[in-house]
Amino acid sequence: MTMKCEYCQTEGYGDLIEETSYWMIFLAPSQRYLGTCVVALKRQCQSLSELDDSEWDDFKFLVRKMETSVNEAFNPDLYNWSCFKNAAFRDEDPNPEIHWHFLPRYQNEVEFEGLIFNDPDFGYIPQPIPRIIPRDVMDKIKLEIKKNYNK
Ligand SMILES: [Zn+2]
Repeated sequence: MTMKCEYCQTEGYGDLIEETSYWMIFLAPSQRYLGTCVVALKRQCQSLSELDDSEWDDFKFLVRKMETSVNEAFNPDLYNWSCFKNAAFRDEDPNPEIHWHFLPRYQNEVEFEGLIFNDPDFGYIPQPIPRIIPRDVMDKIKLEIKKNYNK
C-alpha cells in the first residue's frame, strides 16, 4: 500500500491491532492523542461515496467496538473521526486511499505506563504533530485496546 497523509506521517499506517471483514485497525505511529488509530479499508477506493453497504455496516460495528474499547482503556472525553485525503491531492495524479483517523480527545491528562498524555489541542482540531513514544509503551497501548475490543 502506498499512501500520503500528513496525519499518518510515515510509510505505513502503524501496527495492526485488529481486522474486520473490510477494514484494518492500526495503532498510529504518533500518540500525541493517546490511543490514536488508523482504520483503513482493505480495498483500493477513492471516496466514501463508493463504499458499499456491507463496508458501511462493518464500519458501524467497528466504530461502536473501538469507542467502547478505548472508553474502557483510557476514558477520553470524545472522539474525532476524520477522513482527510488532502495530502494525496498534492500529487498531479492523486490516488487516495480511504482511511479514517480515530483520535481520542482528552480534557484532562492521562497517565499510562509512566508517561503523561495531555491533549494540548482539546476543543480544537487535532494537529499533525508527531509524538513518538517508546516501543514497549506502544505495545501496551495495543494490548489494552485489543483486550477491550475482544470482550
Ligand atoms: Zn492518514
